Amino acid sequence: MEFQNCQNVDDFMSGLIKRNPGEPEFHQAVREVAESIIPFVLENKKYQEAQILERMTEPDRIVIFRVTWEDDQNRIRANRAWRVQFNNSIGPYKGGMRFHASVTQSVLKFLGFEQTFKNSLTGLPMGGAKGGSNFNPKGKSDNEVMRFCQSLMTELHRHIGEDTDVPAGDIGVGAREISYLFGQYKRLENRFVGTLTGKSLEFGGSRVRTEATGYGCIYFCEEMFKSQGESIRGKTVGISGSGNVAIYAAEKAVELGAKVLTLSDSSGFIHDPEGIDAEKIAFVKDLKEVRRGRIHEYTEKFNAASFHKGKRPWSVPVDIALPCATQNEISGEDAKTLLDNGVKAVCEGANMPTELEGAHAFLNAKILYAPAKAANAGGVAVSGLEQSQNALRLSWSREEVDSRLQSIMSDIHENCLQHGKTDDFVDYVRGANIAGFIKVADAMLAYGVV
Ligand code: NAP
Repeated sequence: MEFQNCQNVDDFMSGLIKRNPGEPEFHQAVREVAESIIPFVLENKKYQEAQILERMTEPDRIVIFRVTWEDDQNRIRANRAWRVQFNNSIGPYKGGMRFHASVTQSVLKFLGFEQTFKNSLTGLPMGGAKGGSNFNPKGKSDNEVMRFCQSLMTELHRHIGEDTDVPAGDIGVGAREISYLFGQYKRLENRFVGTLTGKSLEFGGSRVRTEATGYGCIYFCEEMFKSQGESIRGKTVGISGSGNVAIYAAEKAVELGAKVLTLSDSSGFIHDPEGIDAEKIAFVKDLKEVRRGRIHEYTEKFNAASFHKGKRPWSVPVDIALPCATQNEISGEDAKTLLDNGVKAVCEGANMPTELEGAHAFLNAKILYAPAKAANAGGVAVSGLEQSQNALRLSWSREEVDSRLQSIMSDIHENCLQHGKTDDFVDYVRGANIAGFIKVADAMLAYGVV
């Protein structure tokens, strides 16, 4: 494999696409970064000469393996799993595991690549990784999920460790799955160490980890408004998803005085013009986390709300849009609708939720637009704090963790301003990409040819 010394984004991308055929999500994530980093690299020859961006787009390694398990009817089932260890220049690999039927190598490479920048932005010593499987947990019994997790860990355990690679949750991997995975890890290794984060409080989890991504997203959003002398108080909010990130983003938004109008899942969205308050959020939490039901059940309980089957929530006029479900859930068309309806801020709780065309539309309209690597870094930041507590064998209070989370989100915002602010506008995409890049790139330069 030979890298060309590229002078522009298209040249760079054509080489990357040739080296990584059939991986559209990975191409998209790299293009978004390349659009801000290539001009920066051309101005900073040391990075160009050392081909840092080219090297950063090549994962350190990918482990691919079969996961065989038995379902409740004693049938043998097999899935494919991956761990993409992308870059460990500034710390042990760190990133979640995703269980979803749509998981492919391309999806995990895009997530691992993004994670490297995000982890760098947190200021904590964490490299970038991601993993997962095309296993679909929907409709599976607890015992089936347990057998799958145990089988997956039987292979994965030899590739991870508290100083090597520390997985966490993501779509389809919540408290239940992390518990099964950690239980099996401990059994195989006969060591109780912080090799997974997102653990329950009884066995080494951190306070505020469950809430961290959603809360962090709102803290970041509040920082953006604060920098304009405003606040999210009194603003209307549209949220997609009803999983971990969406629920806690809604909770914190309501706590800070905003009015949340929508939530969704893969079957459609609900619109509650009266606002989704704390009591209604508690209902959704129980519906999704305990009963594992569908979002339309909300309208059976709260009559003012309507359910929109198979639709995304972006047609509802709101001041703030928080995509918190999955990748590419805001198309160029959706972005236009949001802008036509006067959206003031878009803050990405999910990873790469906005298609490139939509991201360009938000940037051109000069609204407050926070990309995922900045806006949702709170989750991995508190995972980093969980690792610290595990290493110290301590458990910090809720106030302590929450105040660290707030200051990390505020520092990330500052970093974005430093690299993204021009006279009349803050380009948070450029700011986050450059700030995340510099730390990793400088470490790679220092290591020499590796
Ligand atoms: P989760 O708890 O599994 O919830 C995912 C939510 O998104 C569910 O409501 C799900 O609906 C919906 N969804 C998933 N795939 C969808 C699709 N193809 N179309 C429409 N809706 C879909 O996952 P999560 O942890 O909240 O993660 C959500 C996003 O945040 C992901 O992009 C993830 O990478 C990102 N993120 C998560 C964390 C974290 O700490 N958890 C940290 C940083 C970033 P169903 O219930 O119908 O499947």
